[in-house]
Amino acid sequence: MNTVEKQIETLRNELREHNYNYYVLDSAVISDYEFDIKLQELQELEAKHPEFFDANSPSQRVGGEVTKNFETIPHEYRMYSLDNSYSKEDLLDWEKRIKKLVDGDVQYTCELKYDGASISLTYESGKLVKAVTRGDGFQGDNVTANVKTIKSVPLQLKGDYPPKFDIRGEIVLPFDGFNKMNEERIEIGEEPYRNPRNTASGSLKLQDSAEVAKRPLECLLYNLTGTDLGVKTQSESLEKARQWGFKVPDAAKLVNSIDDVLEFIDYWNTHRHNLPYETDGVVIKVNSLQQQEELGYTAKAPRWAMAYKFKAEQVSTKLNSITYQVGRTGAITPVANLEPVELAGTTVKRASLHNADQIEKLDIRVGDEVYVEKGGEIIPKILGVDLTKRPVDSLPTQYITHCPECQTELVRQEGEAQHYCPNYNGCNPQIIGRIQHFISRKAMDIEGLGGETVALLVNEGLISNYSDLYELTKEQVIPLERMAEKSAENLIQGVEKSKSIPFERVLYALGIRYVGETVAKKLARHYKSIEAIENASEEELVNVDEIGIKIAESVNAFFSSEENIFIVNRLKQFGVQLEMSAEELIGKTNILEGQSIVITGVFESISRNELKKLIEDNGGKVSSSISSKTSYIVAGDNMGPSKKDKAEKLNIELINEYNFLQKIIKK
Ligand code: AMP
Ligand code: ZN
Repeated sequence: MNTVEKQIETLRNELREHNYNYYVLDSAVISDYEFDIKLQELQELEAKHPEFFDANSPSQRVGGEVTKNFETIPHEYRMYSLDNSYSKEDLLDWEKRIKKLVDGDVQYTCELKYDGASISLTYESGKLVKAVTRGDGFQGDNVTANVKTIKSVPLQLKGDYPPKFDIRGEIVLPFDGFNKMNEERIEIGEEPYRNPRNTASGSLKLQDSAEVAKRPLECLLYNLTGTDLGVKTQSESLEKARQWGFKVPDAAKLVNSIDDVLEFIDYWNTHRHNLPYETDGVVIKVNSLQQQEELGYTAKAPRWAMAYKFKAEQVSTKLNSITYQVGRTGAITPVANLEPVELAGTTVKRASLHNADQIEKLDIRVGDEVYVEKGGEIIPKILGVDLTKRPVDSLPTQYITHCPECQTELVRQEGEAQHYCPNYNGCNPQIIGRIQHFISRKAMDIEGLGGETVALLVNEGLISNYSDLYELTKEQVIPLERMAEKSAENLIQGVEKSKSIPFERVLYALGIRYVGETVAKKLARHYKSIEAIENASEEELVNVDEIGIKIAESVNAFFSSEENIFIVNRLKQFGVQLEMSAEELIGKTNILEGQSIVITGVFESISRNELKKLIEDNGGKVSSSISSKTSYIVAGDNMGPSKKDKAEKLNIELINEYNFLQKIIKK
């Protein structure tokens, strides 16, 4: 090994270990900053030395591969479902069936049933080679590129692992991360995700793995599959998996009887609410693999395992009132204010009623005794009404017709569930929400100005839209509550500094409905200036890659408002970046727009990452798998035979790196 190779190897090992400490053991040894420095060092070395490329390097965790169509691949071992039980009797019946089929004592492992998306990981020589969803149990989708970005999935194992095996587990989205994602959704005026489970499985099917990398997913493992694994029991295999570097929750317990199983269930039925992720039951497995083999499978599930489903916790309480919240986009959300009640370890006072249809469907009325359930959702939901307790004089709920904040008549668009307050420029929560979005971290990132101060500034009449921020003076700000000379100075400086925020972030900051970070980037890079976007017709907008009709309509609606044009022009006068700067424009074209390009093999003159960036900077998309939609393949040395076959079959052109570079430079 030469020194560079050694250096790369050392960095990779160090980063692997830190990843493991942080994401599997939950105990970091170095700071995030130190980690980033090391990662950067590795990325630079790898870029300079593409000959040492390794698909399982920790640098590959950031994602970037785009998959249009997920390839279907058969599972080498079928992924079964589980039989369900709901009571002690069910479990005792199961035990009887087992005792008929096997001799001797039976021990059980009790594990939590994690509620997410099941996944099968294949490892060869200690390296992750593929990750496949359950699908129909016989075959699933190849989501390897996405799963690689999940930090608790080891890309390289340690210890005495078998040469080849599958390991199964569940990809979950812990509550904390789920809540954070929802805060961001609300910020861009999108409906929040309903529950962590669907969001986790949805994440696996995202086309852009860089997006997946941003999601705080985790992978919890529970089953080893293969031959000659060197283990005799389920509990031993969990222990081994842990040693090889997998995240195996330590709640798992080995017990000797169904009574012990019930004790485990009882304990976790209450304590599961303290776990960072969602669980919906317990899975009980016969511990001996020998006995498992004797028991075998029914048509759909193993006879040696049983799921016990927790009852979703429900209580009933009185509905005291319904209030209506107005969001940044004007969307109205009805909220149920409840007589406080204990549920799943917390006191519940409020529940979301979602929209008018929901209230009508359940015929919910103030004064009703309602059933409340806490499932995967963070905010509890109302399941229905106890009609036997309905007061005789109760009347059906009249949904509000006017905005509770500004009294404007509400509108409801064809096909939409939500009512909206159309008073875009005169409704306080909308005005405040929009400015709060404008200053937020991913938008203009104005230091020294927080959400509460924005509300104060609006309520005191000092600003009424985000362009007014740029006219604020220190003298105006100082008299505000909790403002001192220094903090006022910081605020003004923060506003000033935001003038250098690049165009794509300004575009996101404007708060156009459906224009999130990614869409803003796409639009900014395609059109390069706000005028060009203003002047684009709906048809033109839809023609931009990945811009759909919903977004196009919303962009057009935004710029057809005179008020918005006025505000944007003011921003321009104040010096906010409303076009791409000369430096940003260098090297960026859209000559590859609409093209889906696959990169494969090892290159001589350029690293994979550089190649990827070059394609993206020129408007193209990098895809991980060859399909009929692939425009062409940039192929280096050592292209895999299966890829070669596929390219030939689909008649897709292969070009080498030099011809590709010419393509870009010539234009
Ligand atoms: P079901 O989908 O209700 O048939 O339940 C089976 C699913 O439970 C499996 O496909 C797994 O994804 C999931 N599961 C969650 N935790 C466990 C566990 N500890 N052992 C086995 N399966 C589990
Ligand atoms: Zn209003």
